[in-house]
Amino acid sequence: MKTYYLDNNATTPLAEAVWRKMEPFLKSEYGNPSSLHHRGRGPAKALRESRAMTAALLGAADEREIIFTSCGSESNNAAILSALATAPEKRRIVTSAVEHSSIRKLCRFLAKKGYDVVEVGVSAQGFLLIDELRRVLDDKTAIVSLMLANNETGALFPIDEIGALVKERGALFHVDAVQAVGKYLLNVKQSPVDFLSLSAHKLYGPKGVGALYVRQGTPFQPFLMGGGQERGRRAGTENVAGIVGLGAACELALSDLPKEIERLKKLRASFEETLCSQFHAVVNGDLTRRLPTTSNLRFPGMDAEAFMMALDQRGVCVSSGSACMSGSPEPSHVLKAMGLTDEEANSSLRFSFGRFTTEHDIQDVVKIIRETLDYFKEVDRGSRLNSNKAAL
Ligand code: PLP
Repeated sequence: MKTYYLDNNATTPLAEAVWRKMEPFLKSEYGNPSSLHHRGRGPAKALRESRAMTAALLGAADEREIIFTSCGSESNNAAILSALATAPEKRRIVTSAVEHSSIRKLCRFLAKKGYDVVEVGVSAQGFLLIDELRRVLDDKTAIVSLMLANNETGALFPIDEIGALVKERGALFHVDAVQAVGKYLLNVKQSPVDFLSLSAHKLYGPKGVGALYVRQGTPFQPFLMGGGQERGRRAGTENVAGIVGLGAACELALSDLPKEIERLKKLRASFEETLCSQFHAVVNGDLTRRLPTTSNLRFPGMDAEAFMMALDQRGVCVSSGSACMSGSPEPSHVLKAMGLTDEEANSSLRFSFGRFTTEHDIQDVVKIIRETLDYFKEVDRGSRLNSNKAAL
Protein backbone atom coordinates (compact mmCIF):
# COMPACT_ATOMS: atom_id res chain seq x y z
CA MET A 1 0.00 0.00 0.00
CA LYS A 2 1.33 3.42 -0.91
CA THR A 3 1.73 5.94 1.91
CA TYR A 4 0.30 9.41 1.40
CA TYR A 5 2.02 11.39 4.12
CA LEU A 6 -0.05 14.47 4.91
CA ASP A 7 1.16 14.99 8.45
CA ASN A 8 4.18 17.19 7.82
CA ASN A 9 3.37 19.46 10.77
CA ALA A 10 3.90 16.48 13.09
CA THR A 11 7.25 15.75 11.50
CA THR A 12 8.81 15.74 8.05
CA PRO A 13 10.70 12.96 6.30
CA LEU A 14 14.48 13.35 6.27
CA ALA A 15 15.60 14.79 2.93
CA GLU A 16 18.12 12.68 1.03
CA ALA A 17 20.57 15.61 0.72
CA VAL A 18 20.38 16.08 4.51
CA TRP A 19 21.07 12.41 5.20
CA ARG A 20 24.08 12.40 2.85
CA LYS A 21 25.67 15.26 4.80
CA MET A 22 24.93 13.65 8.17
CA GLU A 23 26.18 10.15 7.44
CA PRO A 24 29.97 10.71 7.86
CA PHE A 25 29.35 12.29 11.26
CA LEU A 26 27.67 9.10 12.50
CA LYS A 27 30.70 7.08 11.51
CA SER A 28 34.10 8.26 10.30
CA GLU A 29 33.92 11.84 11.67
CA TYR A 30 33.47 10.68 15.23
CA GLY A 31 35.70 13.23 16.96
CA ASN A 32 34.51 15.48 19.75
CA PRO A 33 34.29 19.03 18.36
CA SER A 34 35.87 20.33 21.60
CA SER A 35 39.02 18.19 21.08
CA LEU A 36 42.13 20.08 20.09
CA HIS A 37 43.62 17.22 18.06
CA HIS A 38 42.91 16.61 14.38
CA ARG A 39 39.89 14.31 14.99
CA GLY A 40 38.03 17.20 16.55
CA ARG A 41 38.67 19.62 13.71
CA GLY A 42 36.24 18.18 11.14
CA PRO A 43 33.28 18.11 13.54
CA ALA A 44 34.15 21.59 14.87
CA LYS A 45 34.21 22.96 11.31
CA ALA A 46 30.90 21.23 10.55
CA LEU A 47 29.32 22.90 13.60
CA ARG A 48 30.55 26.30 12.44
CA GLU A 49 29.09 25.74 8.96
CA SER A 50 25.73 24.58 10.32
CA ARG A 51 25.58 27.56 12.64
CA ALA A 52 26.21 29.89 9.70
CA MET A 53 23.51 28.19 7.62
CA THR A 54 20.96 28.31 10.45
CA ALA A 55 21.73 32.00 11.05
CA ALA A 56 21.33 32.66 7.32
CA LEU A 57 17.90 31.01 7.13
CA LEU A 58 16.68 33.12 10.06
CA GLY A 59 18.26 36.30 8.72
CA ALA A 60 20.26 36.65 11.96
CA ALA A 61 22.91 39.37 12.20
CA ASP A 62 25.52 37.07 13.73
CA GLU A 63 26.13 33.33 13.87
CA ARG A 64 26.83 33.59 17.60
CA GLU A 65 23.12 34.28 18.08
CA ILE A 66 22.41 30.58 17.41
CA ILE A 67 22.50 28.06 20.28
CA PHE A 68 22.01 24.42 19.28
CA THR A 69 19.60 22.48 21.49
CA SER A 70 17.99 19.03 21.51
CA CYS A 71 14.54 20.06 20.18
CA GLY A 72 11.98 22.82 19.88
CA SER A 73 10.62 22.04 23.35
CA GLU A 74 14.04 22.58 24.92
CA SER A 75 14.47 25.87 23.07
CA ASN A 76 11.07 27.04 24.33
CA ASN A 77 11.87 26.05 27.92
CA ALA A 78 15.33 27.63 27.75
CA ALA A 79 14.00 30.99 26.53
CA ILE A 80 11.30 31.37 29.18
CA LEU A 81 13.42 30.13 32.07
CA SER A 82 16.27 32.41 31.05
CA ALA A 83 14.01 35.47 30.93
CA LEU A 84 12.69 34.73 34.43
CA ALA A 85 16.20 34.10 35.80
CA THR A 86 17.68 37.30 34.37
CA ALA A 87 14.86 39.59 35.57
CA PRO A 88 13.82 38.05 38.92
CA GLU A 89 11.83 41.16 39.92
CA LYS A 90 9.41 40.61 37.01
CA ARG A 91 6.84 37.90 37.67
CA ARG A 92 4.45 38.08 34.72
CA ILE A 93 4.58 35.74 31.71
CA VAL A 94 2.27 36.51 28.80
CA THR A 95 1.39 33.81 26.31
CA SER A 96 -1.65 32.73 24.28
CA ALA A 97 -4.43 30.18 24.51
CA VAL A 98 -3.21 28.32 21.41
CA GLU A 99 0.44 27.60 22.22
CA HIS A 100 2.17 24.24 21.93
CA SER A 101 2.21 22.04 25.04
CA SER A 102 5.93 22.77 25.60
CA ILE A 103 4.89 26.34 26.45
CA ARG A 104 1.52 25.59 28.03
CA LYS A 105 2.80 22.93 30.42
CA LEU A 106 5.85 24.96 31.42
CA CYS A 107 3.63 28.00 32.08
CA ARG A 108 1.21 25.90 34.14
CA PHE A 109 4.16 24.64 36.19
CA LEU A 110 5.44 28.19 36.65
CA ALA A 111 1.97 29.42 37.68
CA LYS A 112 2.00 26.81 40.45
CA LYS A 113 5.37 28.22 41.54
CA GLY A 114 3.74 31.64 41.96
CA TYR A 115 4.37 33.31 38.58
CA ASP A 116 1.56 35.38 37.13
CA VAL A 117 0.77 33.67 33.82
CA VAL A 118 -1.64 35.41 31.45
CA GLU A 119 -3.05 33.70 28.36
CA VAL A 120 -4.28 36.01 25.62
CA GLY A 121 -7.19 34.72 23.52
CA VAL A 122 -7.61 34.41 19.77
CA SER A 123 -10.34 35.37 17.32
CA ALA A 124 -12.58 32.92 15.45
CA GLN A 125 -9.98 33.08 12.65
CA GLY A 126 -7.23 32.01 15.06
CA PHE A 127 -5.53 35.42 15.27
CA LEU A 128 -4.18 36.85 18.50
CA LEU A 129 -6.42 39.47 20.14
CA ILE A 130 -3.93 42.33 20.00
CA ASP A 131 -6.04 44.70 22.14
CA GLU A 132 -6.18 42.07 24.85
CA LEU A 133 -2.39 41.68 24.62
CA ARG A 134 -1.98 45.46 24.93
CA ARG A 135 -4.14 45.46 28.08
CA VAL A 136 -2.23 42.70 29.88
CA LEU A 137 1.31 43.93 29.14
CA ASP A 138 2.77 45.76 32.11
CA ASP A 139 6.20 46.67 33.40
CA LYS A 140 6.21 43.54 35.54
CA THR A 141 6.08 41.40 32.40
CA ALA A 142 9.33 39.42 32.10
CA ILE A 143 8.57 37.71 28.81
CA VAL A 144 5.94 37.38 26.13
CA SER A 145 6.03 33.98 24.43
CA LEU A 146 3.95 33.49 21.30
CA MET A 147 4.10 31.25 18.29
CA LEU A 148 4.71 32.55 14.79
CA ALA A 149 2.64 29.84 13.08
CA ASN A 150 0.10 27.62 14.76
CA ASN A 151 0.80 23.91 14.42
CA GLU A 152 -2.88 22.99 14.06
CA THR A 153 -4.31 25.73 11.84
CA GLY A 154 -1.20 27.37 10.39
CA ALA A 155 -2.50 30.80 11.53
CA LEU A 156 0.29 33.37 11.54
CA PHE A 157 0.71 35.91 14.32
CA PRO A 158 2.10 39.34 13.26
CA ILE A 159 5.34 39.12 15.23
CA ASP A 160 6.67 42.52 14.16
CA GLU A 161 3.57 44.34 15.39
CA ILE A 162 3.46 42.28 18.59
CA GLY A 163 7.20 42.68 19.20
CA ALA A 164 6.91 46.47 18.96
CA LEU A 165 4.24 46.44 21.71
CA VAL A 166 6.33 44.12 23.88
CA LYS A 167 9.40 46.32 23.52
CA GLU A 168 7.38 49.44 24.55
CA ARG A 169 6.79 47.65 27.85
CA GLY A 170 10.43 46.63 28.26
CA ALA A 171 9.71 42.89 28.24
CA LEU A 172 11.55 40.18 26.35
CA PHE A 173 9.86 38.61 23.32
CA HIS A 174 10.13 34.90 22.54
CA VAL A 175 8.76 33.50 19.30
CA ASP A 176 8.05 29.79 18.96
CA ALA A 177 8.77 29.49 15.23
CA VAL A 178 9.05 25.70 15.24
CA GLN A 179 6.31 25.32 12.60
CA ALA A 180 7.36 28.34 10.57
CA VAL A 181 11.10 27.96 10.02
CA GLY A 182 11.79 26.56 6.57
CA LYS A 183 8.21 27.31 5.45
CA TYR A 184 8.06 31.07 5.92
CA LEU A 185 10.50 33.87 5.03
CA LEU A 186 12.05 35.22 8.21
CA ASN A 187 14.34 38.12 8.90
CA VAL A 188 14.98 38.22 12.64
CA LYS A 189 17.56 40.97 12.28
CA GLN A 190 14.74 43.35 11.41
CA SER A 191 12.13 41.95 13.81
CA PRO A 192 11.82 43.00 17.46
CA VAL A 193 12.45 39.43 18.62
CA ASP A 194 14.80 38.44 21.47
CA PHE A 195 14.45 34.65 21.33
CA LEU A 196 13.23 32.35 18.56
CA SER A 197 12.87 28.56 18.67
CA LEU A 198 13.17 26.08 15.83
CA SER A 199 13.39 22.32 15.39
CA ALA A 200 15.16 20.41 12.61
CA HIS A 201 12.57 17.65 12.21
CA LYS A 202 9.96 20.13 10.99
CA LEU A 203 12.09 21.11 7.99
CA TYR A 204 13.31 17.78 6.62
CA GLY A 205 16.13 17.47 9.15
CA PRO A 206 16.61 14.83 11.86
CA LYS A 207 14.71 14.50 15.12
CA GLY A 208 16.41 15.42 18.38
CA VAL A 209 18.04 18.68 17.33
CA GLY A 210 16.84 22.25 17.48
CA ALA A 211 18.13 25.74 17.99
CA LEU A 212 17.40 28.84 19.98
CA TYR A 213 18.14 32.22 18.45
CA VAL A 214 19.19 34.71 21.14
CA ARG A 215 19.61 38.28 19.92
CA GLN A 216 23.00 39.76 20.69
CA GLY A 217 22.86 41.71 23.94
CA THR A 218 19.90 39.76 25.36
CA PRO A 219 20.76 38.53 28.85
CA PHE A 220 20.92 34.74 28.93
CA GLN A 221 20.99 32.24 31.77
CA PRO A 222 21.54 28.63 30.64
CA PHE A 223 19.39 25.99 32.21
CA LEU A 224 21.60 23.08 31.16
CA MET A 225 24.87 23.55 33.01
CA GLY A 226 28.16 21.71 32.69
CA GLY A 227 30.79 21.99 29.95
CA GLY A 228 31.48 25.18 28.04
CA GLN A 229 29.82 24.15 24.77
CA GLU A 230 27.78 26.72 22.86
CA ARG A 231 29.85 29.51 24.45
CA GLY A 232 28.78 28.37 27.88
CA ARG A 233 25.09 28.73 27.06
CA ARG A 234 24.15 25.06 26.66
CA ALA A 235 26.26 22.32 28.18
CA GLY A 236 26.72 18.85 26.73
CA THR A 237 28.73 17.34 23.90
CA GLU A 238 27.02 18.44 20.74
CA ASN A 239 24.84 16.13 18.63
CA VAL A 240 27.20 16.71 15.70
CA ALA A 241 25.40 14.58 13.09
CA GLY A 242 22.08 16.12 14.11
CA ILE A 243 23.43 19.65 13.93
CA VAL A 244 24.97 18.93 10.52
CA GLY A 245 21.50 17.71 9.50
CA LEU A 246 19.93 20.93 10.76
CA GLY A 247 22.45 22.99 8.78
CA ALA A 248 21.78 20.96 5.63
CA ALA A 249 18.01 21.33 6.14
CA CYS A 250 18.42 25.11 6.44
CA GLU A 251 20.52 25.11 3.25
CA LEU A 252 17.79 23.18 1.45
CA ALA A 253 15.12 25.64 2.60
CA LEU A 254 17.27 28.60 1.57
CA SER A 255 17.69 27.15 -1.92
CA ASP A 256 14.02 27.32 -2.95
CA LEU A 257 11.77 28.66 -0.19
CA PRO A 258 9.77 31.29 -2.16
CA LYS A 259 9.15 28.79 -4.99
CA GLU A 260 8.15 26.04 -2.57
CA ILE A 261 5.74 28.36 -0.73
CA GLU A 262 3.97 29.19 -4.00
CA ARG A 263 3.80 25.51 -5.02
CA LEU A 264 2.27 24.49 -1.68
CA LYS A 265 -0.24 27.35 -1.77
CA LYS A 266 -1.54 26.15 -5.15
CA LEU A 267 -1.64 22.54 -4.01
CA ARG A 268 -3.61 23.40 -0.88
CA ALA A 269 -5.99 25.73 -2.74
CA SER A 270 -7.04 22.97 -5.14
CA PHE A 271 -7.33 20.43 -2.28
CA GLU A 272 -9.52 22.72 -0.17
CA GLU A 273 -11.63 23.81 -3.14
CA THR A 274 -12.46 20.20 -3.94
CA LEU A 275 -13.13 19.13 -0.36
CA CYS A 276 -15.27 22.15 0.46
CA SER A 277 -17.32 22.03 -2.74
CA GLN A 278 -17.75 18.25 -3.04
CA PHE A 279 -17.71 17.00 0.55
CA HIS A 280 -19.06 20.03 2.46
CA ALA A 281 -15.83 20.46 4.41
CA VAL A 282 -15.25 23.80 6.15
CA VAL A 283 -11.84 25.42 6.68
CA ASN A 284 -11.12 26.17 10.35
CA GLY A 285 -9.54 29.60 10.61
CA ASP A 286 -8.56 32.30 8.19
CA LEU A 287 -7.85 31.49 4.55
CA THR A 288 -5.10 33.99 3.96
CA ARG A 289 -2.68 34.63 6.83
CA ARG A 290 -1.57 31.06 7.43
CA LEU A 291 1.25 28.69 6.58
CA PRO A 292 0.98 27.23 3.07
CA THR A 293 1.52 23.74 4.52
CA THR A 294 -1.59 23.53 6.65
CA SER A 295 -5.24 22.78 6.03
CA ASN A 296 -7.44 22.27 9.09
CA LEU A 297 -10.80 21.04 7.86
CA ARG A 298 -14.07 20.33 9.60
CA PHE A 299 -16.37 17.62 8.26
CA PRO A 300 -19.73 18.39 9.92
CA GLY A 301 -21.25 15.36 11.59
CA MET A 302 -18.11 13.25 11.19
CA ASP A 303 -16.11 11.63 13.99
CA ALA A 304 -12.61 12.82 13.06
CA GLU A 305 -10.87 10.08 15.04
CA ALA A 306 -12.77 7.35 13.12
CA PHE A 307 -12.19 9.21 9.84
CA MET A 308 -8.46 9.46 10.54
CA MET A 309 -8.24 5.72 11.30
CA ALA A 310 -10.18 4.83 8.15
CA LEU A 311 -7.87 7.02 6.05
CA ASP A 312 -4.86 5.41 7.70
CA GLN A 313 -6.13 1.98 6.63
CA ARG A 314 -6.09 3.30 3.06
CA GLY A 315 -2.53 4.68 3.35
CA VAL A 316 -3.29 8.32 4.18
CA CYS A 317 -1.56 9.79 7.26
CA VAL A 318 -3.29 12.84 8.73
CA SER A 319 -3.84 14.12 12.21
CA SER A 320 -6.82 14.88 14.41
CA GLY A 321 -5.68 17.49 16.91
CA SER A 322 -1.95 18.08 17.32
CA ALA A 323 0.32 15.01 17.21
CA CYS A 324 1.65 15.60 20.71
CA MET A 325 -1.92 15.54 22.02
CA SER A 326 -3.19 12.60 20.00
CA GLY A 327 -4.37 9.73 22.08
CA SER A 328 -5.95 12.26 24.42
CA PRO A 329 -9.75 12.35 24.28
CA GLU A 330 -9.80 16.13 24.81
CA PRO A 331 -10.93 18.26 21.86
CA SER A 332 -8.17 20.49 20.45
CA HIS A 333 -7.45 23.46 22.75
CA VAL A 334 -6.63 25.53 19.65
CA LEU A 335 -10.00 24.96 17.96
CA LYS A 336 -11.81 25.45 21.29
CA ALA A 337 -9.99 28.79 21.80
CA MET A 338 -11.28 29.82 18.35
CA GLY A 339 -14.82 29.24 19.58
CA LEU A 340 -15.57 25.84 18.04
CA THR A 341 -17.84 23.52 20.03
CA ASP A 342 -16.49 20.16 21.24
CA GLU A 343 -18.45 18.48 18.48
CA GLU A 344 -17.03 20.78 15.80
CA ALA A 345 -13.49 20.33 17.12
CA ASN A 346 -13.94 16.56 17.19
CA SER A 347 -15.02 16.56 13.57
CA SER A 348 -11.85 18.34 12.38
CA LEU A 349 -8.75 16.93 10.74
CA ARG A 350 -5.39 18.51 10.02
CA PHE A 351 -3.86 17.84 6.62
CA SER A 352 -0.30 19.15 6.38
CA PHE A 353 1.60 19.18 3.12
CA GLY A 354 5.31 19.25 2.49
CA ARG A 355 8.18 19.26 0.05
CA PHE A 356 7.45 15.68 -1.04
CA THR A 357 3.70 16.10 -1.55
CA THR A 358 2.84 16.08 -5.25
CA GLU A 359 -0.24 17.17 -7.19
CA HIS A 360 -0.77 13.54 -8.09
CA ASP A 361 -0.78 12.56 -4.39
CA ILE A 362 -3.46 15.16 -3.74
CA GLN A 363 -5.64 13.77 -6.55
CA ASP A 364 -5.25 10.26 -5.12
CA VAL A 365 -6.06 11.45 -1.59
CA VAL A 366 -9.23 13.18 -2.81
CA LYS A 367 -10.33 9.87 -4.37
CA ILE A 368 -9.55 8.00 -1.14
CA ILE A 369 -11.50 10.56 0.88
CA ARG A 370 -14.49 10.11 -1.46
CA GLU A 371 -14.35 6.32 -1.07
CA THR A 372 -13.99 6.60 2.71
CA LEU A 373 -16.95 8.96 3.03
CA ASP A 374 -19.06 6.66 0.80
CA TYR A 375 -18.07 3.73 3.01
CA PHE A 376 -19.17 5.64 6.13
CA LYS A 377 -22.51 6.45 4.44
CA GLU A 378 -23.01 2.76 3.65
CA VAL A 379 -22.23 1.73 7.21
CA ASP A 380 -24.55 4.42 8.52
CA ARG A 381 -27.39 3.32 6.18
CA GLY A 382 -26.82 -0.30 7.22
CA SER A 383 -27.02 0.45 10.91
CA ARG A 384 -30.16 2.58 10.43
CA LEU A 385 -31.83 -0.26 8.48
CA ASN A 386 -30.91 -2.67 11.26
CA SER A 387 -32.31 -0.42 13.98
CA ASN A 388 -35.54 0.07 11.94
CA LYS A 389 -35.86 -3.71 11.65
CA ALA A 390 -35.29 -4.09 15.39
CA ALA A 391 -38.03 -1.52 16.06
CA LEU A 392 -40.59 -3.45 13.98
N1 PLP B 1 6.35 24.31 19.08
C1 PLP B 1 5.50 24.01 18.10
C2 PLP B 1 4.63 25.08 17.52
C3 PLP B 1 5.42 22.70 17.62
O1 PLP B 1 4.56 22.40 16.64
C4 PLP B 1 6.25 21.71 18.19
C5 PLP B 1 6.17 20.31 17.74
O2 PLP B 1 5.17 19.85 17.24
C6 PLP B 1 7.15 22.09 19.20
C7 PLP B 1 7.16 23.39 19.63
C8 PLP B 1 8.06 21.09 19.85
O3 PLP B 1 9.13 20.76 19.01
P1 PLP B 1 9.97 19.43 19.28
O4 PLP B 1 9.14 18.29 18.81
O5 PLP B 1 11.22 19.59 18.47
O6 PLP B 1 10.26 19.40 20.73
